[in-house]
Amino acid sequence: MSTVPQKAALEAGLAPDKTLTIVLFGPPGSGKGTQAEHLCKQFQLPHIATGDLFRENLKNQTELGKLAKTYMDRGELVPDDVTVRMVRERLSRGDADRGFIMDGFPRTVAQAQALDELMKELGRQIDVVLSIVVSDEEIVNRLSGRIICRECQTPFHKIYNPFKQCPFNKCSGEHLYQRDDDKPETVRARLNTFHTQTAPLMDYYRQAGLLVEIDGEGKVEEVTRRMMDAIQQVLKI
Ligand code: AMP
Repeated sequence: MSTVPQKAALEAGLAPDKTLTIVLFGPPGSGKGTQAEHLCKQFQLPHIATGDLFRENLKNQTELGKLAKTYMDRGELVPDDVTVRMVRERLSRGDADRGFIMDGFPRTVAQAQALDELMKELGRQIDVVLSIVVSDEEIVNRLSGRIICRECQTPFHKIYNPFKQCPFNKCSGEHLYQRDDDKPETVRARLNTFHTQTAPLMDYYRQAGLLVEIDGEGKVEEVTRRMMDAIQQVLKI
């Protein structure tokens, strides 16, 4: 069962006996990865990002990685059964006992139903689904300039957020690259996939009373503040 952290605990982090499970929802490039990093540091929770898991598999040349790439390159979703199996395995690793920040999953109604089942099996529940709202025009601007560290996955932007320092003090920016799927044609396909297959999930979570919409435009810190305010309100503290 999920328990409610106190406000002080929320600002200072998460008390050792509390749990917190957050799903971040939004189009590609809405800032889910960046905000997830912040929330994970704040609450000392694992960041579970299905896109990162697929890319890790691809880097290690696993069968799963090779299969995923065929879909990723087209801006399409990897099939539900494959994705759900990967998430199930990830959640079984034991580091998610106090909760987690889920980023990029679920992306279809079938995946949301599978996550509900998984949570039931774990005896847990989702506390809140934060939907980050950003216009398509802004998404295209952001993704066309996005560069990512191949080692720690930290995203930067050629113009808005150029590399200055590695957040983990491990490199000097030599691992930065542009994702194949951040090329303009693939970005358009990914946005189309989002609107047709993923956006309907908003109703699913709205009906479950879990959805909170967050304005995802503006400075990163402003968006973080909106998210922290929303978390406090949802948890009624
Ligand atoms: P992301 O890093 O979240 O933008 O994901 C990159 C790509 O990985 C997506 O365009 C999909 O091809 C694939 N992917 C990530 N998460 C999922 C998911 N939950 N279901 C299906 N495909 C996914």
